[in-house]
Amino acid sequence: MKMGGTSRYANAYRRSLPHDVGMSRQLPVPRVGDEEGWVREHLSDLVDGEVKASGAIRGGQEAADTALNAFDVTGYAADRSEVYPIGRRGASRLSPYIRHGLISLPRAWSSVAHGPARDVSKFRDELLWQEYARHMYARTGGTASSIRYAVTARSAPPDPNWIEGMACFDLVVGELEQDGWMVNQSRMWFASHWSVRHGHGWRDGEDLFFRHLLDGSRAANRLGWQWTVGAGTGKAYGFARAQVERRAPGVCGSCALRTACPIQSYPDDPELQRVPAPAGVLGDPDPNATAGPDEAIPTESVNRVWITAESLGDDDPAMSAHSDAPVTFVFDEALLGRLRLTGKRLVFLTECLADLATRRETQIWRGDPVDVLSGGGVATTYAPVPGWRRRADLIKPSAVHPWPWLVKPHGGAAGSFSAWRKNAGRDR
Ligand SMILES: Cc1cc2nc3c(=O)[nH]c(=O)nc-3n(C[C@H](O)[C@H](O)[C@H](O)COP(=O)(O)OP(=O)(O)OC[C@H]3O[C@@H](n4cnc5c(N)ncnc54)[C@H](O)[C@@H]3O)c2cc1C
Repeated sequence: MKMGGTSRYANAYRRSLPHDVGMSRQLPVPRVGDEEGWVREHLSDLVDGEVKASGAIRGGQEAADTALNAFDVTGYAADRSEVYPIGRRGASRLSPYIRHGLISLPRAWSSVAHGPARDVSKFRDELLWQEYARHMYARTGGTASSIRYAVTARSAPPDPNWIEGMACFDLVVGELEQDGWMVNQSRMWFASHWSVRHGHGWRDGEDLFFRHLLDGSRAANRLGWQWTVGAGTGKAYGFARAQVERRAPGVCGSCALRTACPIQSYPDDPELQRVPAPAGVLGDPDPNATAGPDEAIPTESVNRVWITAESLGDDDPAMSAHSDAPVTFVFDEALLGRLRLTGKRLVFLTECLADLATRRETQIWRGDPVDVLSGGGVATTYAPVPGWRRRADLIKPSAVHPWPWLVKPHGGAAGSFSAWRKNAGRDR
């Protein structure tokens, strides 16, 4: 449906739409190209620091499709971990689009079908890691992904000089702060240096990443930190100069500390204590509840579609099934007030919404999703995150569409990626 179209859904909805509901208010629709200004005007009090778009990645279905079409998986297996020079990188940089549902995992999976077998296999492994993170997050109710070992923070607050003068960190932190995206290798460097060498709390590091990363998700971010600090496997990842020389040749040569490198040798292994696995890690008594519905059975007629940050793509199942209904997105004021995300994350989401609004009637609100969406007639897509469940329990959607899993959640052990994968029938 075009913006301002005359479908029966749109008219019925518009007649009944007050511009304030409780403490929530409807915002004007952002224009493509003016997203930064829009966030500054309507959301700047919820943002940490200045409002500035990512220096590298734009939001929106069109940008996502362009990135997917341009991605050539050839060479991925060898080059995925290259950090510098940027031209050597083999990573796809699709993660912000995957995170926000603009590219589903099944679509990413099939997009590489004709590439070289080794590269396809490696890329698909990484998609499975994303799926594993989502399963674990949903299974454990969001408390933990797969903690098996306690990691004790040694010092707080963080040593302000922990990366002073290090050229490798100028590169890594610059990308985190300006672009909101880093290659996996740089994330491991940061997390290891922060936690394994300097003893800062990994949960603080996770929160820092979450505020900056365009792909920031509790599921994958938490799993990534846990993996790096050894909370999942009992073996921490050590970061030293050798990795920089291998994955970012040339950086050490430009470093002021090249003859006094603080990471010349590997850090000591931290002492990790085995702890009982959190509920859900060793088995899931109700995998069907974790997975959500297999099909949508509407309980009444639908007059709007609720979209969330998990599912902003044009092929979102609820949006596709109710193609004439307007879509509603709510910037959750209380949640954003707590999270204090950096401006680039909200600009990215706004770019997605501005782009969507060129094709569909899009209603954008700021406030409480439960206030805005209660009252019936809402269709939505299931999201395997506890925050969605809590809100959906109160909103009581009339139709909940299935989440596009790559692998359906199973009830077997999942204390490690390989155990999960074996039980998922995706073992090689
Ligand atoms: C400390 C730390 C924090 C991380 N935080 C996040 C996060 O918040 N959100 C996030 O999506 N990923 C996170 N990752 C995983 C990984 O680093 C990123 O998914 C990847 O770097 C994104 O770049 P890409 O799209 O070029 O990945 P590619 O290498 O091209 O991989 C393709 C896709 O596979 C998925 N993927 C790749 N590696 C992983 C992985 N290790 N775990 C889960 N999924 C993976 C992503 O969806 C990615 O887009 C984190 C890793 C670490 C070590």
